[in-house]
Amino acid sequence: MSEKPVIGITAAHCSEELQTFPRHYYVESIKKAGGIPFILPPVRTQEECDDVLSVLDGLLLTGGGDISPVYLREEPLRGIGKCSPERDWGEILLTKQSLQQNIPILGICRGVQVLAVAAGGGIYQDIPSQHPTAMEHSQTAPRQYAWHDVDIAEKSALFRLLGEKKVGVNSLHHQAVSKIPLGFIQNAHAADGVIEGIEKTNTAFCLGVQWHPESMESDIHSNALFRGFVEACRE
Ligand code: MN
Repeated sequence: MSEKPVIGITAAHCSEELQTFPRHYYVESIKKAGGIPFILPPVRTQEECDDVLSVLDGLLLTGGGDISPVYLREEPLRGIGKCSPERDWGEILLTKQSLQQNIPILGICRGVQVLAVAAGGGIYQDIPSQHPTAMEHSQTAPRQYAWHDVDIAEKSALFRLLGEKKVGVNSLHHQAVSKIPLGFIQNAHAADGVIEGIEKTNTAFCLGVQWHPESMESDIHSNALFRGFVEACRE
């Protein structure tokens, strides 16, 4: 293992998403935290998945569109957004295998939802219809600005990293975790009760947040989160 850990950054593969997917934020955040960023196209088979993971020290599950209801074993609700089943399948494979091999995982936005689904939890397909009292989680301000507060659970790895009980975060999500997987805890929530982060207990580093720390580059908490992740990937 090199001194700098190699971090796989999941990415879209279709031209449509390439136009809107702000991958440079993730790349810069990993570099700044001391890691080597590698952009990963979706894997298709277990063999591809194993090959990719054999060269990685950590997995960064990035933001993106909604997860297809097919992978939730649910019927599609009317409010479902754009889905990329190729990405869903590849990321669920990578996540399941990383969980088994104890490879550190950081999930961001869609990434925390992928983590929840891969670990056996559940998500809302569409927050507004499934959680009618929820606040607006799709911010109308640019993504580098905070939009709402989150309360951080004090007995969590997230709290140990951030050292704060409440932080302001941005919010660009249409889905959210609805059922926490076995072996995980909720580490952050918004005032409306929407789960804003989960983490696996008794493991090296397996944590997801619903906000986009990579887009809040000047925010000390975002930097602390990436540093903690890259540090865990070094071990
Ligand atoms: Mn939110």
